[in-house]
Amino acid sequence: PPIVVRDFANELGVKPFKLISELMEMGIFASINQSLEENVASELAAKHGFLLEIRHRGEGNKAKKKQQKKEEIDETGDLEHRPPCVCIMGHVDHGKTSLLDYIRKANVTKGEAGGITQHIGAYQIEHNDHKITFLDTPGHEAFNSMRARGADVTDIAILVVAADDGFKPQTDEALKFIQKSGVQPIVAINKIDTKGANVDKVKQQMQERGIASEDWGGQTICVEVSALKGTGIEDLLDMVLLQAEVLELQANPKKKSSGVVIEASVEVGRGPTATVIVQSGTLKVGDALVCGPASTKVKAMLDENGKQLKKAPPATPVRVIGWSTTPDCGAVYETVKNEKTAKSLAADNEHQMKAEMAAMEDEATAGMSPQEKLFAAIAKTQKKTLRLIVKADAFGSLEAICEALTSITSEKVALEIIGKGVGVISKSDVEKAHAGEAEVIGFNVRSDNGVAAVAKNKAVKISSYQIIYELVDRVRDDMIEMLDPEY
Ligand code: GDP
Repeated sequence: PPIVVRDFANELGVKPFKLISELMEMGIFASINQSLEENVASELAAKHGFLLEIRHRGEGNKAKKKQQKKEEIDETGDLEHRPPCVCIMGHVDHGKTSLLDYIRKANVTKGEAGGITQHIGAYQIEHNDHKITFLDTPGHEAFNSMRARGADVTDIAILVVAADDGFKPQTDEALKFIQKSGVQPIVAINKIDTKGANVDKVKQQMQERGIASEDWGGQTICVEVSALKGTGIEDLLDMVLLQAEVLELQANPKKKSSGVVIEASVEVGRGPTATVIVQSGTLKVGDALVCGPASTKVKAMLDENGKQLKKAPPATPVRVIGWSTTPDCGAVYETVKNEKTAKSLAADNEHQMKAEMAAMEDEATAGMSPQEKLFAAIAKTQKKTLRLIVKADAFGSLEAICEALTSITSEKVALEIIGKGVGVISKSDVEKAHAGEAEVIGFNVRSDNGVAAVAKNKAVKISSYQIIYELVDRVRDDMIEMLDPEY
């Protein structure tokens, strides 16, 4: 269950923006409506003299004064098993997409065979009569963005390692993320059909990393698969269900629903839509939802097969159509009494977010003498600025990139993202970049026809990347370059 910044601040008796700045000090950039990881929350709780009580995989976390005991486990009787939410991570080209595709095609929910599937950011399958929810935004960008916000929907992480390539930097990075989140990885050794496959080498590497597989005397579940041929996939799904059983995943379907936004975009003809994963309660058509500054009265929800759903129980991913504005990826939604309440709460949230941002800016200069303030202002104007327009393939990756970029700090060079969006790099992006003296950065997106010519004509730099850390490194290099004296 989510530990939302605002509620948590209330529990601790501190101002939300105070908490937000403490989080910043910890390198976490969260907004008021985002939720926090358990370990982060407990660290903060400890700092304020509280003890965080987590009811694992159950319902309702609370930060409590040590002596205080209120609200014991509520509605325990209503807790029911729920499907696990699984994400697939690993190095590029090791087969994440192939695995997701294979699993999806081979296990389409009963009655949906032949349907047209859509990318909504997650899908649900049935294996041996048990449901499993897969987050299908491969790569750890989305996962990382979620984690940065603590909105952790992942119960089980599958770490894909290609048998012919072994552990790679991104594999290790993914493993780090997984371990940090307290999730036990299941390792899928993929591409065992290839000539160069060396399963033992991968197992050796697992042992070196302290995650030895069970057949090597360790604890880590490890399955050998071929996403191309389908070998071992049944075993893999069996293991996922086994792990889910061990975790005793539960939720209360009778409560008012709450959950997390995993993807959001503006769709032509549909306006702002968002895929949410229901974490608690059952989401129904007609429910009034509030999610940060966004609100909606659910008119329609669609599953990944484009089928309209009336109800979505815990762990179900659904595309909710008709938001007032696009909610943030990773933000938590809540069900409220009615549409009017939702609208007014959303307005409050927006107002509060703005006020807190302003307060944070004030805080930054608080305590400075007028002279210091002046110097700070001058320094700011003298700072060189690298301006960027960022385009990415999905909302999740866009968010992750912008977050990573804004975390690059330099005393002498400022970074400003003057525009961002999901989709191909268009002529209008180039025009905007030209007008704003900015560069265009693309992630997993191509340029529209004719864009290259316009860019050349206007001397606008466009660069595209497929790996997030390469993108970030390059931008950092660009910033450093700006410091070099020109001869
Ligand atoms: P991702 O970048 O991790 O999502 O990797 P992809 O799923 O796009 O796979 C990268 C390449 O490896 C593609 O050309 C796939 O066809 C290929 N591939 C994926 N899984 C297997 C496998 O099990 N065996 C073989 N031989 N090729 C595979």
